[in-house]
Amino acid sequence: MKKYNFNAGPSILSPETVNNTIDAIKNFAGTGLGLMEVSHRSKEFQAVMDETVTLFKEILNIPEGYSVLFLGGGASLQFCMAPYNLLEKKAAYLNTGTWASKALKEAKLFGEVVEVASSKADKFTYIPKNYTIPSDADYFHITTNNTIFGTEIHHDIDSPAPLVADMSSDIFSRPVDVSKYGLIYGGAQKNLAPAGVTFVIVKDAMLGKVSRPIPTMLDYRTHIKEGSMFNTPPVVSIYAALQTLKWLKSIGGLTEMSRRNKEKADMLYAEIDRNKLFKGTVTAKEDRSLMNICFVMDEGYGDLEAEFLQFAVSKGMVGIKGHRSVGGFRASTYNALPKEAVQALIDVMREFEKQHS
Ligand SMILES: *Cc1c(COP(=O)(O)O)cnc(C)c1O
Repeated sequence: MKKYNFNAGPSILSPETVNNTIDAIKNFAGTGLGLMEVSHRSKEFQAVMDETVTLFKEILNIPEGYSVLFLGGGASLQFCMAPYNLLEKKAAYLNTGTWASKALKEAKLFGEVVEVASSKADKFTYIPKNYTIPSDADYFHITTNNTIFGTEIHHDIDSPAPLVADMSSDIFSRPVDVSKYGLIYGGAQKNLAPAGVTFVIVKDAMLGKVSRPIPTMLDYRTHIKEGSMFNTPPVVSIYAALQTLKWLKSIGGLTEMSRRNKEKADMLYAEIDRNKLFKGTVTAKEDRSLMNICFVMDEGYGDLEAEFLQFAVSKGMVGIKGHRSVGGFRASTYNALPKEAVQALIDVMREFEKQHS
């Protein structure tokens, strides 16, 4: 049976990413050796690193004065590394979900943290608006896509303090005005590569301003100076990221990617709104994520939840069970998920509705 991969992360990657990486694991760049078995300092791997950085900057249209790094530790390490490097006195955070809360908690170890707004009291079903960002903050931290609750900030905010963004689950899903950000980071395992590599886009001028000593490995300047080769980088994940970037470029870059993502999400949200058995969990429709689409059984149909899950799984749908903190269902419609998969899920929802009316 054909499987449709709606996993939230690690998640679906383009066939080009998977196939080219498999080939390189067997025979890397014509060396006759496998990618996992060569030095990261070989000229062949150095070429991969250089091309990955170049293409990353090209596709996201990153201006001069920014560095792109590939590190270990996941987005979770960035929750502490960002304030370690940037927080001297005060930082502002927008609390829009589980990951945002975790980022905020770590920052408190380094200085004063102002939570400018939170949607926690309403189970993170919307993105707060009309809050004030203190202009004397060292930075303002946002989580652009809330992977667990299915909300997303769809535009680049105007902020009086430099923006710091966790873009783990929507990087490369749309064009971004990087010049508005001081730092962007994320785990690669949603839209870019297998787990193991963390991308960081940092404005060089943001660094060197805090008075505390920073351990070498946690200092962004170490990795800028060493070109992400201070220690052994996750070579396989970086190679895979390069294949994803090549694929993105071949389809027409981020304008085309965001058109496809919008089309897929619109299709599925339209079905959730139409189908009497289901309803979306995000109350503010303008905040609905294009990457993680959360829905539950509508009133009166709650007892069908387990049955629908079983039915969907029997039709090849993988990974649609909602996160344990939200319940219901979550279909992750990342970049590499084809429109055909979304249509297959819609067909399953319609068939289930027919059986129950
Ligand atoms: C998955 C995710 C994380 C956690 O990433 P790790 O690489 O596992 O640390 C953080 N933030 C967001 C928004 C995520 O989706």
